[in-house]
Amino acid sequence: MTAGRVYVIGAGLAGLSAAVNLVGHGARVTLIEGANQAGGRCRSYFDAALDQVIDNGNHLVLSGNAAVHRYVHRIGAHAQLTGPRHARFAFFDAATGARWIIHPNDGPLAWWVLTPSRRVPDTHLGEYLSILRLLGAGADAPVESVLSCSGALWDRLLAPLLLAALNTDPRTASASLAAAVIRQTLFKGGRAYCPRIATPHLADAFVTPALSYLAQHGATVILGKRVRTLRFEDSRVVGVELAGHSIALEPPDRIVLAVPAWVATDLVPQLRAPTAFRAIINGHFAQPAPKGAEPIIGVIGGLAEWIFAFSDRLSVTVSGADRLLDEDRDSLAQRLWADVAAAHNLTGPMPRWQIVKERRATFAATPQEDSRRPGPVTPWGNLILAGDWVQTGLPATIEGALRSGEMAAELSLTAA
Ligand SMILES: Cc1cc2nc3c(=O)[nH]c(=O)nc-3n(C[C@H](O)[C@H](O)[C@H](O)COP(=O)(O)OP(=O)(O)OC[C@H]3O[C@@H](n4cnc5c(N)ncnc54)[C@H](O)[C@@H]3O)c2cc1C
Repeated sequence: MTAGRVYVIGAGLAGLSAAVNLVGHGARVTLIEGANQAGGRCRSYFDAALDQVIDNGNHLVLSGNAAVHRYVHRIGAHAQLTGPRHARFAFFDAATGARWIIHPNDGPLAWWVLTPSRRVPDTHLGEYLSILRLLGAGADAPVESVLSCSGALWDRLLAPLLLAALNTDPRTASASLAAAVIRQTLFKGGRAYCPRIATPHLADAFVTPALSYLAQHGATVILGKRVRTLRFEDSRVVGVELAGHSIALEPPDRIVLAVPAWVATDLVPQLRAPTAFRAIINGHFAQPAPKGAEPIIGVIGGLAEWIFAFSDRLSVTVSGADRLLDEDRDSLAQRLWADVAAAHNLTGPMPRWQIVKERRATFAATPQEDSRRPGPVTPWGNLILAGDWVQTGLPATIEGALRSGEMAAELSLTAA
């Protein structure tokens, strides 16, 4: 048991990860969340228009995500992440109607790229080898300065994969963040990138079991209380102001600040952090997945990019979606449904739908914004940062958020 209390501010996945790791090591923890529910940008809720629980947006993690693996095992939620035993990804070309499936082999020696029936149609070995160029890219290099960003492999695999992982136009995205994605996936072998989906909802894998774990380990969880101000004295945080009351910190109390970048810089104006963000739009349709449907279909040449199939709904993701933020919701639903219906061979009218626009879904994964990401340690001795925007070497993902929570917990346990 460590002395003092750790106040974790923000119950998104970074804050939850910090809190569960801290209580797991015997620390006394208070978790404070401004919203009425935990989960942040990775949450589930009842949607009245659909008359069912939905996720704010589809979230994909991979079998090789080490921090995800540690987190779900710690909170007892590993059975809630489901997916195939071997990597396989179905694609549909909305412009031509073509369909194909890529079947990477399990091991790191990627012989599947030599087998036309397993690789992306119309691609050749040289295109796959060119991916190696990402690995040597400098921190300030955009992808387009390293790769040609054209050809069948780019159009049919690399661009959709990088757009989904970086949520940023892949040509102008950071080559070193793209390399981190490739190292975690294509270079590790199919066993590391089998898709895993929270089932039936995000909250069942990532949020509700974490809150139960915290309750079992004696943590105090305060929901619906926004932190308005942090009070600083000398080089420490000495107080946390919430609506209606304040908390005084005594040494060796510590704070893990696990709020989004734009809130962190409000609370701590001296912080340097990303200032540009990118949107994600999700369309949800109350249409049960057809029997035998692929759990995920990548769509090329449509508005929809990835279609996720659930027993009670079909949900569509569009990343880097800032261009669509002002588009009328009804028109978005119609356009997305056209792609969903074509990909799943559905006829009949559009079912009940919901459009969820997340304006600041992630920081823009450009070299400039990546260079603005701070490490977890701050000049204030008892203030530690967590969040997908803190420098982890990864883009803004669940894996990055959970890893930053682990780092913050470790630092809190050792901080004086
Ligand atoms: C639509 C969408 C789709 C995505 N898809 C994927 C995907 O497929 N795969 C993947 O790996 N990642 C995906 N992501 C990214 C992933 O959701 C995030 O990286 C992750 O959830 C970020 O967690 P976080 O804890 O860093 O931040 P947040 O989730 O933003 O958590 C911060 C928390 O702080 C709280 N807070 C804010 N201000 C205060 C305050 N003043 N006082 C107290 N609390 C406060 C917020 O309410 C929030 O709960 C997606 C994101 C979105 C939005």
